[in-house]
Amino acid sequence: MADSSIQGIYDALKSFERTREPRSIEWRRAQLKALKHMLSAEKDGALKALKEDLGRCDTESIMEYSTIVSDVSHILSHLPSLVAPQSVERAMLHWPCEASIVTEPLGTVLIISPWNYPLSLALQPLVGALAAGNCAVIKPSEVATACEKWLVEAVPRYLDKRAVAVVPGGVEVSTELLKLHWDHIFYTGNSVVARIVMRAAAEHLTPVTLELGGKSPVVVANDADMRSAARKLLWGKHLNCGQTCVGPDYVLTTPDAFEPLSAAFKAEYAKIAPSGDLKESKDYPRIINHRHTERLAGLVAELPETIVGSTSDIDVEAKYIPIIVAKVDKTHPLMDGEIFGPILPIIVVDSIDESIDYINSRDKPLALYAFTKSKKTWAKILGSTSSGGAACNDVIVHLSHTGLPFGGVGESGMGNYHGDQSYHTFSHHRSVLKKGSIETDKMLRYPPYKHSKMLD
Ligand code: NAD
Repeated sequence: MADSSIQGIYDALKSFERTREPRSIEWRRAQLKALKHMLSAEKDGALKALKEDLGRCDTESIMEYSTIVSDVSHILSHLPSLVAPQSVERAMLHWPCEASIVTEPLGTVLIISPWNYPLSLALQPLVGALAAGNCAVIKPSEVATACEKWLVEAVPRYLDKRAVAVVPGGVEVSTELLKLHWDHIFYTGNSVVARIVMRAAAEHLTPVTLELGGKSPVVVANDADMRSAARKLLWGKHLNCGQTCVGPDYVLTTPDAFEPLSAAFKAEYAKIAPSGDLKESKDYPRIINHRHTERLAGLVAELPETIVGSTSDIDVEAKYIPIIVAKVDKTHPLMDGEIFGPILPIIVVDSIDESIDYINSRDKPLALYAFTKSKKTWAKILGSTSSGGAACNDVIVHLSHTGLPFGGVGESGMGNYHGDQSYHTFSHHRSVLKKGSIETDKMLRYPPYKHSKMLD
């Protein structure tokens, strides 16, 4: 009978790691194929779980699900080139030799994931971990209970149980897991817990990837296509009810752009909420739980006037917060922390320069967005700020481009993944020099040393 304690699970994975079987390319490919098969075979259950936890319609859930599928497909087709040693340029000093960078698995890794995209944020890191030949424990979020259950049931039915375990539970379970000596910890969630993770990792000198959040700003310049900007921003707040780490958090715009932008918000909102309220929409998701709904309701309690959405439609019992767009000033509570909900404050500033200064006065965000037709304005914003990722004339979608590494900077995180980068995140890059027995440097290298002009 297998030991199901946390220590027992860890020991079992470690002993399988030591067999070196997960290092083989065949094993890795088989696991990735099994994961792909699981995603296809268990899709209905996954969509059901996402609906149960987040009230999501299938279309939005498929957007999450398809990012996992495309990451597995991408890495499966790139596996041969990813595992191949990369030759490096020859150096005269070492001639004759072969020099290469060889990737190797890190060992056994821990993946801790949050509730907002509870399947992709658990499984996309796993894609990288398996492709790189690691064993892994996934600790899903206890907050998204249906998805946690789906992961616990589905994963062991398809993946090698000797190498992958899903350990459910809350803070106590995370705390126990964090005491163990992992070869890498991949944590997605808030920056308070990230500090706990990093402190625990420091005990064992374990490297970490921290995928965090923050307030991702949007600059709307006066030359922007206002209808398109409003449509995309509303979509960014509709998607998962604004509970998206790279969701647009607040808008900075100039006085001349404010009126046209407000008019565009009204026109576009009327298309997605013809009755003025999204409550009856079958497409609109819900807030994850009552605690978060109350937190969001509290943030807009003192809101004098809205551009779209009405605070009187909020229904905490039904975990319903409508999309609300409103003009506020910089001291409003909405501007304190990450909103993580469907509320979009707009701040009017005097200029693009003031927007830049405001963004730079805050923590480095996970994403930065700008809507403008001017290449010069975009270059100025991009060149004067820092963020995990950035997009011009769109929001959120940059994270689904498998060619772009995804991650934060500063308070929004460290390290990155997606596409090839997931493989590299879970690999050690070993420097390897191979020489023969011909010694071309004999005269210079060994004592007694003789001065040579070659050393000058
Ligand atoms: P959460 O409450 O589900 O917590 C995340 C994980 O941390 C869970 O598995 C939980 O069990 C664990 N945890 C909680 N408290 C802990 C503790 N004291 N010790 C050890 N483990 C603990 O999710 P959350 O943190 O509310 O997630 C939302 C945050 O995550 C937002 O800030 C969001 O921006 C960020 N996020 C970032 C990304 C990204 O890819 N960068 C993606 C999604 C969410």
